[in-house]
Amino acid sequence: MMVRLKSQRELDRLRASGELVGRTLGEVARYLEPGVTTLELDREAERFVRQNDAEPAFKGYTMPGLKPFPGTLCVSVNDVVVHGIPGAYKLREGDVVSIDCGVRLDGYFGDSAYTFALGQITVAEQALCQAAYEALYRGVGAAVSGNRVGDISHAVATRCARYGVVRDLAGHGIGRELHEKPQIPNYGRPGRGTLLRTGATICIEPMINLGTHAVTTSADGWTVRTADGTTSAHYEHMVAISDGDPEILTTFSYIEDVIEPPYIVTHG
Ligand code: MG
Ligand code: MG
Repeated sequence: MMVRLKSQRELDRLRASGELVGRTLGEVARYLEPGVTTLELDREAERFVRQNDAEPAFKGYTMPGLKPFPGTLCVSVNDVVVHGIPGAYKLREGDVVSIDCGVRLDGYFGDSAYTFALGQITVAEQALCQAAYEALYRGVGAAVSGNRVGDISHAVATRCARYGVVRDLAGHGIGRELHEKPQIPNYGRPGRGTLLRTGATICIEPMINLGTHAVTTSADGWTVRTADGTTSAHYEHMVAISDGDPEILTTFSYIEDVIEPPYIVTHG
């Protein structure tokens, strides 16, 4: 399996893309409130991305047999796991809203996701979001040179053992392509899989369900839902493997500057 390792110049580009995607999610977070439609969030994101001389990465993304994805964001509410299409749905108090954003800046992609609690969500949903959030950072912690992809997968899955860890979708390498090798599954065996080498850039993205791991795809071809109708959470960072600690190329700091309890699940 061919994993493209990045030069310092390429890493600089990816840092810029990661920063922009973080800023875009922070911008979107400012508009999150009951009554706003998911399409309104999407328009805000697209305006912000283009204003910063980048283009939306998901808009127009094609898969065999599907219509091109129409949004700048994937907005995935409650039982929608990922790839929710922005539209007329008005967000409501108590919604668990996962927002995934991709950009392309100077030829290099950025990709990051965050799950928001819109006001009061259930205790079980809070614990789910907390677990998915922590699992992301456990995965990042395992993303060191000399480890293997399975070490990341295992770290994520172990934190979410009581939940349904989605198996049908995975994280991925990123660079000049939105989805490069290797795949980064959220379950797996430590010590197995592709060797992680300095210069590899990957997206780690736990998708975690309150119920079972099973998912179904809606008739639109994109929207992925939990098969049992339970709530799902999704967090994603882009990470560069280095000789030292992993470098997180995206950032949640712009989001976490904006959101205030109780409109967000607070993370310790
Ligand atoms: Mg993403
Ligand atoms: Mg991704």
